[in-house]
This record gives sequence, C-alpha cells and structure tokens, in this order.
Amino acid sequence: MVGPVYLALFTVRAKAGIVLTPTESIIFWCLVIGTFGSIVSLLLLSQYRLKENQRFVQQIDGLRRERQEQISELESINSDLRVQIRRQQSLEESLRAITNSLRLDDVLSQVLDSMMQMLGTNRVSAAALSLFNGGGFNHHTVALDPTMETDWADPLARQAVLRRTAVVVGDTLQEQEWRAIYRYGIVSALSIPLIDVNNVVRGALVVVSPQRQAFSSADIRHMTSFSIQASVAVHNAELHAQLSQQRVMLEAVLRDITDGLVVMSESGAIVMANPLAIEAFQYSDREQAGLRGDLAQMVYEIQADGISKLSRELRIGENDTDRERIFQAHASQVRIAGDGYGHIAVVLHDISDHKAQERKRVEFISMVAHELRNPLNTLNGFLKVVLQEKAGPLNELQQEFLGLADGQAEALKGRISELLEFNRNEAGRLKLYPQWANLTDLLTVTYARFQIHAEQAGLTMNLANVDQLPDVLMDSERIGQVLTNLIENAMKATASGGSVTIGAEATDSEVKIFVRDTGVGIPPDEQARIFGRFYRLERKSSQHGVHLGLGLSICQQIVEGHNGRIWVESAPGEGSTFLFTLPMIGRAQLSTTL
Ligand code: ADP
Repeated sequence: MVGPVYLALFTVRAKAGIVLTPTESIIFWCLVIGTFGSIVSLLLLSQYRLKENQRFVQQIDGLRRERQEQISELESINSDLRVQIRRQQSLEESLRAITNSLRLDDVLSQVLDSMMQMLGTNRVSAAALSLFNGGGFNHHTVALDPTMETDWADPLARQAVLRRTAVVVGDTLQEQEWRAIYRYGIVSALSIPLIDVNNVVRGALVVVSPQRQAFSSADIRHMTSFSIQASVAVHNAELHAQLSQQRVMLEAVLRDITDGLVVMSESGAIVMANPLAIEAFQYSDREQAGLRGDLAQMVYEIQADGISKLSRELRIGENDTDRERIFQAHASQVRIAGDGYGHIAVVLHDISDHKAQERKRVEFISMVAHELRNPLNTLNGFLKVVLQEKAGPLNELQQEFLGLADGQAEALKGRISELLEFNRNEAGRLKLYPQWANLTDLLTVTYARFQIHAEQAGLTMNLANVDQLPDVLMDSERIGQVLTNLIENAMKATASGGSVTIGAEATDSEVKIFVRDTGVGIPPDEQARIFGRFYRLERKSSQHGVHLGLGLSICQQIVEGHNGRIWVESAPGEGSTFLFTLPMIGRAQLSTTL
C-alpha cells in the first residue's frame, strides 16, 4: 500500500526535475518492481481463488446430486418396505385366519383366499390347493372367472410335487412344456410344493396369471413361507377331522354297545358312563341297592390287592324276582398316557336273562331228579323186600337177576343224588362248613374204607407220606367226598393187578393231596376238559360201573370253594395222578376267608 505512494512521490519529483539519488533510484525501481509484482501476485491470487470457488461449487453440486439420488433410493426402499410390510401383514392375517380354523374345508378356502389376496387379483386370475391322495390330486380351486375349468392345476401341481421345489412359468406361449395350459388363459404360473412336518410332499399351492412374467423371485419366497404355514394348517385340520371322526365313532360305540361301561377314578368317583351304565345306576338308585357302592368296592379291592383286574357278579333290584338284574362286572385298570392317575374301567354285562334261564334249568333238573327219585326209591325198596324173600322164596337165578336189578337201581340213585348235588352247587348253593381238621386222619380213614374194595378188585392200595400233615381249615365231609370220588375213578380206571396210591405234601402256603393210579391214563388234550360238567371220555376208560361225567365237576366246585386248585397229570397207558391243594390259612385269617 505504501509502495505506490512512494512511487507516486518519486514520479512527481522526477517530473519536477529533481534528480533522484542512486539510492532513491534503486528504491524507486525496487518499488516499481515490487508494486508490479504485488499487482501480478494479487491478480494471480484472485484468479486462483476464483478457480477454487468454482471447484467448490462443483463439489457442492455433486454432493447435492448424490444426496438426492440417495434420497430417491431411500424413498424407493421405503416404498418397497411398505409393500413388504403390507404383504407381511396380509400374510400374518391370513395365517391367523387359517390357523384359527380347524375345519378342513374352512382351512382350504382360507388358504385359497389368502393366496389371491397376497398376490393381488390384478395379477392372479386363479389359485389352487392340490392335495395328493396317493393316485392323483384333489384340487380345491378358486378363480376370478367362475366358468374356468378346474383341471388346469393338475400339470402344475404334479411338477412341483415331482421336483419338490417351486415351479415358475414365465410365458406359456414361449415354453413348449406349458403350451397346453395356455388354453385356460394362463400365461404365467407359480407352483409351490406343500411339504408337511414329516418332510412328506402333500401336494402343491398353485397361482396363475394372464400376464407375462407375473411372478418375481420375491413372490416365490413369499409363497414358499406361506406354503409352510398352509401345510401345518392343513395337517392340523386333517388331524382334527380324524380326531372328530374317532370321537364320533367312540360315542356311537359307547352309545350302542350292549354292555354298560363305567370309567372310575382311583377314588371311586365316576368319570364317565355310557347310557346303559347310566340306566343301570338309575335302576339301582330306584331300588335303593347300591351299584355305585359295589363298583367303588371293586375299585378299592383292585388298589388294595395291587391287582390289574377283577370280575364279580353284581345284583341290583329285588333279590330272586323278575325285577332283579344281574351283571357280570369286569373291572380293569386303565393307564392313560401322560396322565399319572390310574383309572378303572368296568364293563357291565347284563346276564339277567341268562341267569333266569339257568335258574329255570336248575329248577327243572331238580324237579325231574326228585320225580325220578321217588319211584326209584319205591322200586328199590320193593326189590329189597323181594330179595329178602319176604314175598316168597326165590330160586338162584331169580336171586341173581334181582340182585343185578337192585345194584343198578342203587347206581341210578347214586347218579341222581350226584345230579341234584351238582345242580345245587351250580345254583350257587354250595354250602361249606369249614372247621379245623386233621388231614392225616381224613386220609387214613378214607384209605381204610377202600382197602377191602381194592382187594376185591385185585388192586393194591397204598397210603404215602401222611404222618405229619397239619390241621387244615376245611369242610371234612366235602373234602372226604372229593377223595372218595377220585379214588373211585382211579379204581374204575385201573385193571386188576394195578395199584392206587393216596398221599399228601405240605408246604408253608398249601397242602397238596394226590390220588395216583396205574390205570388207562388220560390223553393230554382231554386232561383239561374232564373237569367240565357231563364230560366223559369217548373211549372205554372204566373197568367197573358207569360214569355220568359229573364227579370231577363236583370235586372242582368243592376244592375251589376252599380256594384250592385241582388238576391231573397223566400219561395214556401209564396211569393218572389227580392232585388238589388246600390253602394253609393262619387262624387269624379265619374270619375273612371261606
Ligand atoms: P363220573 O362222575 O361219571 O365218574 P367224572 O367227572 O368223575 O365222571 O370223570 C370224567 C371223565 O374222566 C370220565 O370219562 C372218566 O373216564 C375220566 N376219568 C376220571 N378219573 C380217571 C382216571 N383216574 N383215569 C382215567 N380216566 C379217568
């Protein structure tokens, strides 16, 4: 700034003719050069600044443009996201609707509606849910045009099922494979396999459009995730349908079976009862007899004894009248999976008619037996009178024939008594009078009674191991009857020269009594059956007398009446051993048993 002033001063002085000193000249020229240099520098600087500014402005413009691009990009992402969210929401809504519904038809139509809504009806003209049924597909379809045929979905579903992956058709006119479906007005299509939780392909979801390339990769992703949920919903609905069907069937069975069924809790409370059981309860309540109480008692016994089943005859109504109803109740423990509690199911089988018939049969047999016994007694009596020659003398032949007739009449009386006794026992009137008695005594006395008979029949009679037998709680007369019957049978089955042995073995819990013979024996397949009533072996097993087939049944009734068991061990041609047990009961248990 000062330079130009000095320069101006030097110029004025030069013009005024004032000669400049050399120093002043040097300063002058320095100033001239400095001023010029400064001006040039200033010019250069301003030029540089200008350029810098222009570059800066360009940079700012570039940044502004970049930001605007970013903004528009963000806007497009934003709108994409909005679309995605809308789709997601519509997917969620659809899924909620689908999974809320359990009826298969509802689920199928919900799935179809959802597909149409999700992809938009401006794009999609029809949708199908095709379920594979083993041989072919069941197509459930929905279409904007109601007149559209329904078999268009078949090839698309088939391909998706075969490939187990999405099938996308962009233009049916261009793709030879898909030309055939163009006639339905289908230009592009998307078919997604429906894969269930067990990784089994159940069918396919198909959407079609009249537009070219209507489905994007986003649509495929979208439809694939929808298909997973749809498959779960279809699976659930099918399970629900199956369960409902089973429930309906179970209800029908429980309603229509001819037996009553009651399910009881461990505490004896009734959890479930079918109509027949309810009717039995009502009948029982009316008659003041406690079917409920009887069942609760059975439940209690199952638990107390730790057993899994129990059968019992239960009677309700007035005893021994037409109004009495008798049920055979079979109770068994039921374990329900996942439920820690045990339940007890009781089947009530009405045996009233059967019992009434049995009663009539028993009454009839007893009446017939009594009717036969009276004339037989008279006949037998007169035979004896004649045999004793009270009606006049008899010759030898008459004696012999009348003796035979008398023997047969006696045998017949014995059979009739047997029949009457069996009948009584069958009717549940087997009366036992148990008392403490010594088995050794009983076996010895019975043995002695038969020894003479055995000798007469040419048989050897043995008594084994009977010295140390304990006292047993038993009806001695009845057990004696069992022994007699077994010994008689053994003697009948054994030919002269053979032997019959009776004996017993005692353990802590029971005493086992046996009658062994060396007779004809019993074939293995007959051994279980001979205890059945009126059962007789076909072959001629007996050497003496007749069999009615009731003796062993009566023995079984008596032994079982003592809570014992009876069975036979035998080999044909070698002989048989009949065995029966009597439980050893402590005297403390006396009151609760028998
Ligand atoms: P019954 O009252 O007529 O004697 P049972 O019920 O006692 O009839 O016997 C049934 C069948 O078993 C008969 O056919 C008889 O032949 C056969 N049986 C019984 N005991 C023996 C035995 N010890 N050896 C061979 N067979 C026998």
